[in-house]
Amino acid sequence: MLSPSLEDYLEEIYGLSLIKREIRVRDIAEKLNVSSPSVVKALRKLHDASYIIYKKYEGIHLTKEGKKLGNLLVKRNHVLQEFLSVINSPCDVEAEAEAMEHYLSPPTIWAIEKLVEFMKKDPEIMKKFESFCGESKEKHWSEEIE
Ligand code: CA
Repeated sequence: MLSPSLEDYLEEIYGLSLIKREIRVRDIAEKLNVSSPSVVKALRKLHDASYIIYKKYEGIHLTKEGKKLGNLLVKRNHVLQEFLSVINSPCDVEAEAEAMEHYLSPPTIWAIEKLVEFMKKDPEIMKKFESFCGESKEKHWSEEIE
């Protein structure tokens, strides 16, 4: 199992691989807002775990395993972002999905995906849910926590 941080690196590398022919350390550093030495360290670990092939000056290449896991990590993030928008959470959706993704178990993510599919399949249900949420106007208890 990869650490949350390495999962984020692999997720980013996979995302970049879909839009770029060559992935550079600098691209990853910029995207994740980290230093180049941190990226190189993570690349070595991902190389050792056989998710990528990384040799200095030869670029970064995803292995079959790396592509498979990278794709799942991107999908997981996407499902959580959709979930947050389906439940109308007025949060920073991207940041919240980032925070959630590493701590939820696969069965929970699967259950969330089913809920999202269910809600999106029927616009009437979405509307009902929105008006149900709109009915309670008073301050919610969760706001006391912040
Ligand atoms: Ca992530």
